[in-house]
Amino acid sequence: MTPRIYRFACKICHQPNGSKEQLKRHMVQHEEPKFECQHCGKMLKRKITLIEHVRLHTGEKPFACEHCDYRCQSFTVLNNHIKFSHKAEFAAAKIKKLREKVKRTAD
Ligand SMILES: [Zn+2]
Ligand SMILES: [Zn+2]
Ligand SMILES: [Zn+2]
Repeated sequence: MTPRIYRFACKICHQPNGSKEQLKRHMVQHEEPKFECQHCGKMLKRKITLIEHVRLHTGEKPFACEHCDYRCQSFTVLNNHIKFSHKAEFAAAKIKKLREKVKRTAD
């Protein structure tokens, strides 16, 4: 068997990549973090992760629970809160969503 020739090997760690896209995705891990947190000096690679990180310092909680006065920093956390604290509402919302979907496809 002849070894497959990878044209898109990483210049830094020499990991072979099958395509240009794959190489691009791979290169992210070699990227220098460019976004600095003004509060603690932590460096982050993505602007979005910086924004989420900064919220830890500012205590900003843009996501509010519609069933109680709970607020949190991320959509995932809010979703988990509803799932565990408002089981009935969570199930109802899920059913409602499904019904809407069915209605839309029926039209
Ligand atoms: Zn590499
Ligand atoms: Zn920070
Ligand atoms: Zn709640």
